[in-house]
Amino acid sequence: MTSFLERAAQLDASDPMRSHRELFVSSEDDSVSAYLDGNSLGRPTKASIDRINTFMTESWGGRLIRGWDEQWFDLPITIGDSLAAAALGAAAGQTTIGDSTTVLLYKIARGAIALRPGRTEIVLDRDNFPTDRYLLEGIAGELGLTLTWIESDRNGGVTAEELDAVVGDNTALVVVSHIAYRSGYLLDAAELVRVTHAAGALLLLDLCHSVGSVPIELDSWGVDFAVGCTYKYLNGGPGAPAFAYVRAEYLDDFVQPIWGWMGRADPFEMSQGYEPAKGIRRVISGTPSVFGMIAMQDTIEMIADVGMPTIRAKSIALTEFALELIRELLVPLGVEIASPEDADRRGGHVTIDHPDFKAVTARLWEKGVIPDYRAPQGIRLGLSPLSTSFHEVAVGIVAIRDDLLA
Ligand SMILES: *Cc1c(COP(=O)(O)O)cnc(C)c1O
Repeated sequence: MTSFLERAAQLDASDPMRSHRELFVSSEDDSVSAYLDGNSLGRPTKASIDRINTFMTESWGGRLIRGWDEQWFDLPITIGDSLAAAALGAAAGQTTIGDSTTVLLYKIARGAIALRPGRTEIVLDRDNFPTDRYLLEGIAGELGLTLTWIESDRNGGVTAEELDAVVGDNTALVVVSHIAYRSGYLLDAAELVRVTHAAGALLLLDLCHSVGSVPIELDSWGVDFAVGCTYKYLNGGPGAPAFAYVRAEYLDDFVQPIWGWMGRADPFEMSQGYEPAKGIRRVISGTPSVFGMIAMQDTIEMIADVGMPTIRAKSIALTEFALELIRELLVPLGVEIASPEDADRRGGHVTIDHPDFKAVTARLWEKGVIPDYRAPQGIRLGLSPLSTSFHEVAVGIVAIRDDLLA
C-alpha cells in the first residue's frame, strides 16, 4: 500500500497541472479523502466564490433590471462562444447555454428531425443515458416515428460498423453519447458522422461526459448538433444550465419546438406571432438562468488557459494509474474492468464491476471516499483532470480493496 501512495506522490509532484488543484474549493483535508465523482458533479472553483459574490453585490444588487441590457441578455451566447473556443472546436455563433440537458436534447432533436421531412426513424443505443432514451421514446410517440436500437457492448460503446449496419434511407437522426456514461467508451465521432451522412441522416452528439475531459472538434468532425452538461467536468454547479451546438449551415432553417419570447426576433417588441431570432439565439426559449451560468465561466477560462491537449494528457495519466492499481489490487479479488483498456478509446472515467459494489459504495461514502455507483454492480471512478490528484486515485482504490477484504 505504501508503495502505491509513494508512486501517487511522485506522480503528483511531477504533474505539470498540479498547481491547478489549489484553484478548487477543497474538502480533502477534513471530510473527503478522495473525491472520485467529478464526472457527476465537479468541485467548485475558488474563483467562482468571488464571481458569485461580485454578481450579487455589483451586477444583480447594483445594476438591477439594467443588468439585462448591459450583459445578461447576450450571456448565453457569449459564454457559449467562449466554451466553443476553449473546449468544443467550434467557431463562434453556433453555441448557446440554457435549459437542462434533457430539455435541450428534446429541443435540438425535434429541430433536427424537422430538417429531414419524410424520414421515419431515429437511431439510438441501448446503453445511452436514460434521459436520452426516454426523451427519444417520447419524441417517437409524438411524431409517429420508429426507434432503431443499437445493441452495443456494455463495456465498450457504439462503433461505426454497428451504426453502419442500421442507418438507412429512413433514418432522420442518430443520437449517441461521445463518451458512454457507464463504460467511459470514447466513440470515433468523425467516423460516426461519415456513416450518418452517407445515409443522408443527421447526428446529434451528447457531450455530457466528454466536454472538459477530451478534446472535441465539432466543426472539423462535421458534427451536426451537440448538447452537453456544464455541472460535470465544467464545474458549473448543481443544475447549471446545459449547452447546445447547431452547425452554422443549419441555423437559417433550424426551428426548435419551444417557441418563447427570448428566442424571437426582436423580443422586446412584444409582437404578434413567433418568428425565430437570427442565428443560434433561436435555440433559446425563455429567460435564461443568469445565476446558473456564473460558475462555469471560471472553468471555461481555466480550460482556455491550460488547453485541452494538456488536460487530456493528465486525464489519460489518471485513468492509466487507476487501471494499474485496479489490476494489481482489485482484479485478484474478483473485480472486473468494465471500461476500455485502450487509452485512445477511453474517456475520463473508469468503471469496475463487482456484485458487492452497491454496499461497498455506501460504506466508502461514510468514510469520505466518494466514487459513484451505477446499477447493476458498477463503481465509476470519475477523474476530473483539473482537480483530481493521483493521491486521491490511490486512496480510493486502496479503500475499495480494504472494504472487499474486510
Ligand atoms: C449527466 C447526463 C445527462 C443529464 O441530463 P440533465 O438534464 O442534466 O439531468 C444527460 N445525458 C447524459 C449522457 C449525461 O451523462
